[in-house]
Amino acid sequence: MEPHPKVVTSQPLFIQKPEPLPPVPYQRICPSCDHQVVTKVDYHPNAKTHFIATLLCCACCFIAWVPYCRNDCKEPHHFCPQCGAYLGHAAY
Ligand SMILES: [Zn+2]
Repeated sequence: MEPHPKVVTSQPLFIQKPEPLPPVPYQRICPSCDHQVVTKVDYHPNAKTHFIATLLCCACCFIAWVPYCRNDCKEPHHFCPQCGAYLGHAAY
C-alpha cells in the first residue's frame, strides 16, 4: 500500500505595514482579535518632539520640557483596547 503523498500548501506571506491613521480614537475592526473597537491612543515623543525641545532649550531652557507634556507635539499611536495590539500611528 502506497502512502498518501503529502500535500504542502504554501500561503502567501502578508506583511502588514502600519497605515497612517487619524490622530484621535476611531472605530475599526481589530485585525488581531476581530472585535469592533474604538482605538486607544497613546502619545509618544518622536524626533520632532526632541527637535522642538532642542529649539526651545536654545531659546529658553526653562520651557524645553513643554513639548513632552503636550500631546500635539507627540506622535499618536493606536492600540486595541481589547487585546492591546498595536494598530498603527497617525501621520504627524
Ligand atoms: Zn484586538
